[in-house]
Amino acid sequence: MTAETKGKIGPTDRAGGGIPSEIVRRAEGYRADIARFLRDIVAIPSPSCQEGRVVDRILEEMRRAGFDEVYRDEVGNAVGRVGSGPTIIMYDGHIDTVGIGDPTAWAYDPFQGKVEDGRVYGLGTVDEKGAVAAMVYGGKVLKELGLDKDYTLYVVGTVQEEDCDGFAAGRFVEHLKARTGRRPDLAVLGEPTDLQIYRGHRGRCEMKVVVKGRACHGSAPERGDNAVYKMGQVLEGIQRLAPRLKDDPFLGRGSIAVTRIESKSGSLNVVPDECAIVIDRRMTWGETPQSSLDEVRAIVAGLGEPDPPGKGPRVGAAGAEVALLEYDTKSHTGHPTRMPKEYPTWVTAEDHPAVVAGLRAAEELFGARPPLGKWVFSTDGVALAGVHGIPTIGYAPGNEVLAHTVREFVTEDQLVKAAAFYAWFPSVAADELAKRR
Ligand SMILES: [Zn+2]
Repeated sequence: MTAETKGKIGPTDRAGGGIPSEIVRRAEGYRADIARFLRDIVAIPSPSCQEGRVVDRILEEMRRAGFDEVYRDEVGNAVGRVGSGPTIIMYDGHIDTVGIGDPTAWAYDPFQGKVEDGRVYGLGTVDEKGAVAAMVYGGKVLKELGLDKDYTLYVVGTVQEEDCDGFAAGRFVEHLKARTGRRPDLAVLGEPTDLQIYRGHRGRCEMKVVVKGRACHGSAPERGDNAVYKMGQVLEGIQRLAPRLKDDPFLGRGSIAVTRIESKSGSLNVVPDECAIVIDRRMTWGETPQSSLDEVRAIVAGLGEPDPPGKGPRVGAAGAEVALLEYDTKSHTGHPTRMPKEYPTWVTAEDHPAVVAGLRAAEELFGARPPLGKWVFSTDGVALAGVHGIPTIGYAPGNEVLAHTVREFVTEDQLVKAAAFYAWFPSVAADELAKRR
């Protein structure tokens, strides 16, 4: 906002007047361009760690949109900067997608970006290339209107989110700090919210449990100690634990799910001496990776009974292991990625300027305050808010129930509204932050 326009936008200047209505008008004018750009990036497959081509296409669009600086950071995120004011705002939209699964399950080509009845269909339209397209056009509109005086906006198309949420977003924050000595004051996530303001979600961690047994011939199982039966006790313990996990009025209850099981035996006629499971643990407020590990360790510690007389030693819990899994790979630029799979829980308070600014921006643009909510799944917010403590909200087109399904689509109406929001939010956020300083 320029000094001249500042102050004109207040409670009396609701939707329908001043800069917000000009933003809505311009965003509407780019309706076809936003959809075309979205179709272009949907047509470029971008599974995690293979985002190079889609990054190039996004950088090209940012350049055309008049961004002040456009580049790819070390880990391979697409970064576009608009403005150079003191408040730093980050838009985070991941540009990798999950796989398509069974191609015959799709009613249309997941990479074609079919447009019908005002909807754009295809893999990633909701999760979350639609948001990225709207963010780039939001940047274009705010640049055209000269709104970029009070803040610096970074639009970041992050990589590898589907593989390791938060990893690349966190790397961008570190990269920005090394480059400018600053970090974002606020962040907005492009994960689908159906144009509501979201302000948190449960954290998560992935762990592996390995129990050992003793192999013997399958024809005389009493001579050995079957690791699969032992794991059976662990599975029962986990099922008993599930309803006792912590609950939270906003985030809901923590959850625990066994998602994989495998055993090792020399042949189909050997009693297995090792069995392993993988656990997907979702952590509500007050739960941590450490507390989650401890709960499972307590179950494992209770394994096995005293050695029965004359039957030889049983293995019990000896050799059992409970540990976090590790994410270990290379980004599309060859940047090594290694970290334990722990993703902290985060919530931004309802009265925080980030939330207040989100509600206000939407109300000034569209005349109504959107509802507040939370995601059921996890996002890059685990690093931005969870690790780096950056106040974070979500606002994006698309319904989250369509993410990771074969019915993914986003409406052009929501794309246009999101672009308008992305153009106006930084002005309002800079204003709300200034009020609290
Ligand atoms: Zn996503």
